[in-house]
Amino acid sequence: MNLHEYQARELLQRFGIPFPHGGVAGTAEEARAIAERLAGPVMVKAQVHSGGRGKAGGVKLARNPTEAAAHATRILGMTIHDLTVQKVLVVPAAEIASESYLGVIVDRAAQRPVVMGSAAGGVDIEEVAARTPERIQRVPVDPRYGLLPHQATALGFGLYRDLAQVRAAADIAEKLYAAFYALGASLAEINPLATTPEGQVIALDAKLVIDDNELARRPEIAALRDLSAEAPSERQARDHGLSFIKLQGSVGCCVNGAGLAMATMDLVKLYGGEPANFLDIGGSSNPQKVVAALQIITSDPGVRSILFNIFGGITRCDDVANGIVQATRQFPLKVPLVIRLTGTNEAEAIAILTNAGFSGLTDMDDAVRRAVALAQA
Ligand code: GDP
Ligand code: MN
Repeated sequence: MNLHEYQARELLQRFGIPFPHGGVAGTAEEARAIAERLAGPVMVKAQVHSGGRGKAGGVKLARNPTEAAAHATRILGMTIHDLTVQKVLVVPAAEIASESYLGVIVDRAAQRPVVMGSAAGGVDIEEVAARTPERIQRVPVDPRYGLLPHQATALGFGLYRDLAQVRAAADIAEKLYAAFYALGASLAEINPLATTPEGQVIALDAKLVIDDNELARRPEIAALRDLSAEAPSERQARDHGLSFIKLQGSVGCCVNGAGLAMATMDLVKLYGGEPANFLDIGGSSNPQKVVAALQIITSDPGVRSILFNIFGGITRCDDVANGIVQATRQFPLKVPLVIRLTGTNEAEAIAILTNAGFSGLTDMDDAVRRAVALAQA
């Protein structure tokens, strides 16, 4: 689950990380009022679930409340990476002498969290990682002990020469790791971690992604989810217990099991098509889940054909077939459907589909090729 910057700041502050205090505005007048209260130059910052807001024009410096209102007018309603800005954060603008990066991620290969630091902060850290990976320090953490003081200090020395700054950065790194761990995050990032001309180390941006699997035991954090900031199709899928990720292609995919869903997408690409989505309808798919899945896939105007790929194990092919028949009775499909089912109750499923005027296939390559051809027709 993604959090907005203002939410991430609030959570990280509880762990003792220093951020300049401000307020969140949904209108230009609210932005002006916050800027008046803060008395001084402010940053007006788009609150969307996306990085690179600065480059997209979503982070602006305002010298006075009138400018803050003008920036808010321009930023509110703006789209950044397909997301519409509905709120802006207004915070005191800091003077910046240098910009560094601090972050914590889960390194799957190392099977542990890794704290990363780089003196090349501020900009796209992905670009630094791709072009000059040696400029990023990586410190693997044993989760039994947490980030140890000497590791934090080493990270600090990687960022600064001044000893007070080294200590300040080490302290923030320890707190960032503590927050990452306690909040069940999969990513915690401060970029930029800035120094002021007076030499103070301050955090100016915050990003937190919470592992969805951690939310059940953290209702307070789950409540921070901003439904209006998510793609409606992904929200609908979550409500129905479906794992769904929207993509840009034209072949809608409805598959049981994450592994088979990935293999199906690979095969779509192999045969020259592009998947419109990742969708795992799960292990025991009752017909209602299939109805919901079809509703979600067909609401995407980019979808030109729909491919069902079901390997019946616990999932019964006849359940899926019934779901398809029910769904197409409820709302007629505007795009062709290719159905491949094999495994548990395969024969029953084919009979159900045939009776309803569909044809069911059992060969996966055959089905994928057809779905790709239909999407391109
Ligand atoms: P992002 O582009 O989405 O990561 O948004 P950031 O919050 O990191 O802002 C982008 C850039 O705006 C930063 O790298 C800074 O250069 C600049 N910026 C952010 N906050 C301040 C501030 O308080 N003062 C100044 N002078 N620049 C800032
Ligand atoms: Mn940033």
